[in-house]
Amino acid sequence: MTPFQALLTGPDGGPAGTPVSAHFFGAQLVIDAPGHGVDVAQLIVSVGGVDGPELFLNWLDEPGRQASLKPLTADDIAIVLREAPAALQPQLQRLWGERQRNRRQVSGWLLGLTGATVVATALLWWQGGHAVGALAGLIPLSTEKQLGELALAQVRAQGGISESGVAQQTVQEIGRQLTTGSRYQYRWLVKQDDTVNAFAMPGGIIVVHTGLLRQAGDPGELAGVLAHEVQHVEQRHSLRQMISSLGWGALVGVTIGDISAVAAMLAHQAGTLYFSRDMEEEADRLGLLALQRAQIRPDGMLHFFQKLDDKDKANVPGWISSHPQTAARAQQIRSLIAATPCPACVPLASQHWQAMKALVASADK
Ligand SMILES: [Zn+2]
Repeated sequence: MTPFQALLTGPDGGPAGTPVSAHFFGAQLVIDAPGHGVDVAQLIVSVGGVDGPELFLNWLDEPGRQASLKPLTADDIAIVLREAPAALQPQLQRLWGERQRNRRQVSGWLLGLTGATVVATALLWWQGGHAVGALAGLIPLSTEKQLGELALAQVRAQGGISESGVAQQTVQEIGRQLTTGSRYQYRWLVKQDDTVNAFAMPGGIIVVHTGLLRQAGDPGELAGVLAHEVQHVEQRHSLRQMISSLGWGALVGVTIGDISAVAAMLAHQAGTLYFSRDMEEEADRLGLLALQRAQIRPDGMLHFFQKLDDKDKANVPGWISSHPQTAARAQQIRSLIAATPCPACVPLASQHWQAMKALVASADK
């Protein structure tokens, strides 16, 4: 019942966080300022910290937005460790214990950074999303790949993932044409799922649902979606969004091999990263250029957008609902196509297309 002071980030606390007072009451975590409680069973503990130890209590609210509560001082952390209900204690004991053991390794990871840089970095971070973009550039490719692998393990655990077969080959055959010269080694996966969806994970992992393959009218439409998703990887949008929703503590966890908390959090959010409007427009624009570089007629991207926009959006969850402002973006793509004519571009052909379409048509019905 002892209250502790904490920073609430996410639902109602805003992206930069709001100081609140909180306490445990029965099986509830009660947060005073916005006046709501969270069932302790919903909480996922993570640990991190740059200058000192940090503890995070994370959860997802009803619409699936990530929230986290970070006790402010060592005394506040002590209250949480002491007063958390029994249901939360195993997670707390395990992660906090590991955290204490890993502290020296964390210092090692930060060896290249001076204390001043760390403070400046932390300040920038709390000021909001723009800093994440700048700082994402500092993350080594190897760490990004590890984060992607971890996210992929969670997606695999949900089942229905194919890494071979005619559908996967079709996606890979088309995708490869859009990633020549990339610093990433792409992996193309198909998920047995009726939702019209595709998503990109850090490090070059692209997952396409069979529902989207069924909706795609021709190889050019699928190429349009893939070109867009590839740019979420190339521009590190997926990495940035994952960091801003998981917190930097998660990244440190990945780097030092303490991946249990990150894995648990990724299990909730794999495939549900939401991008800013700017990121979406960037992915459209650069995706369009990638199509043209591959001499693929880029109008498939536009057609796929229009097709989904024409349908009742309530019946088309997934790709289009996580990619809002469809009409405005379709207009932007139309103008870009008009402004950058590509006489060498031809309609895309795919040797596996018919076999793939037959497969996805029969698989789910
Ligand atoms: Zn997107």
